[in-house]
Amino acid sequence: MAKRDFYEVLGVDKGASQGEIKKAYRKTALKYHPDRNQGDNSAEEKFKEAAEAYEVLGDEQKRTRYDQYGHRAFEGNAGGGHGGMDFEDIFSRFGDLFGDGGGGGGGFGSFFGGGGGGRQRVVKGSSLRVKIKLTLEEMASGVEKKIKIQRLVNAKGLTYDNCSVCNGQGSVMRVTNTILGQMRTTQTCANCNGSGKVVSNRPAGTDGNGQKREEQVVTIDVPAGVEEGMQLSVRGEGNEGPNGGISGDLVVVIEEIAHVDFVRDGQNVLYNLLVSFPDMVNGNSSIEVPTLTGRAKIKIPSGTPSGKIFRLNGKGFPSVNGYGKGDQLIYVNVFIPKSVTSTTKKIIQSLEDDGGASVESQASDKSFFDGFLSMFRNN
Ligand SMILES: [Zn+2]
Repeated sequence: MAKRDFYEVLGVDKGASQGEIKKAYRKTALKYHPDRNQGDNSAEEKFKEAAEAYEVLGDEQKRTRYDQYGHRAFEGNAGGGHGGMDFEDIFSRFGDLFGDGGGGGGGFGSFFGGGGGGRQRVVKGSSLRVKIKLTLEEMASGVEKKIKIQRLVNAKGLTYDNCSVCNGQGSVMRVTNTILGQMRTTQTCANCNGSGKVVSNRPAGTDGNGQKREEQVVTIDVPAGVEEGMQLSVRGEGNEGPNGGISGDLVVVIEEIAHVDFVRDGQNVLYNLLVSFPDMVNGNSSIEVPTLTGRAKIKIPSGTPSGKIFRLNGKGFPSVNGYGKGDQLIYVNVFIPKSVTSTTKKIIQSLEDDGGASVESQASDKSFFDGFLSMFRNN
């Protein structure tokens, strides 16, 4: 099988900067990352293909040779397949480019199918990006969302002619003189984007490909554990491919709606609980707190210091990959009323007079910070 053009593999222009190439590779590698496409052989091939392309285009010297001589420049020193690179090579060399698990997904509108040689290509529709706002509760348990999208669709009853520029071949031949002699290179036909076809009966109100925007409602199945900035790629729900191509992907970007009670910290959820002075001193065996999945009761032991942190195991966010669950951390602080009646003032003053509320020792209670800091170190 003919090798695909490296620029095409990464979806960048011939004149792309090193920064753009690096970014494009990172995006492609994340999309086809084996962790996200388990058991998908075509994704594995694309992942390796992208690494091979980046190995060349990401190196200015190799890139210059490739620009001059194409794949021929590296024949003979690669063990077939993808330059002999396996997963281990790829991760050890480029792993730091896509190791954080963030980003990924769509925006990579390129071509599938033939790798030149005059074959027609199936043009893939471009990706659509939409944002959805989720509450922390929805992120914790997963949710089904119906969203409206404006999608490019092919008009009904389109007919096609062969492209006159490439005679329906999808690519055009270019002859260049190099030190290796005349080289013939094929380029994707710009007139038909490589499909070999053009619309012959373009209806009014459609673009050059016979497409127009249409509002559609799509149901998104959001898995539990997603977080702000994550992207979900829904295959085939993007713009329809022009000229009989395949549909692009719909990229859904997750946004978090600020919560009145909770703050998210990775897989944990933080909650600030105000407790009355009598309950802190005497204890209260059933104080209600909200959680991401309904209400729960916690026990405040007698003599609880302000600043104490309680942990509700497993009441945080699940991992989006399905391993483990975070906790709810409850920061307990004594409630100090801003204004009180004169009767209350008298009662509180009587506590002071009685000696029952006096600070026992002048020494600072450093154990408070031990617990506090370890919470941060654990997370
Ligand atoms: Zn053409």
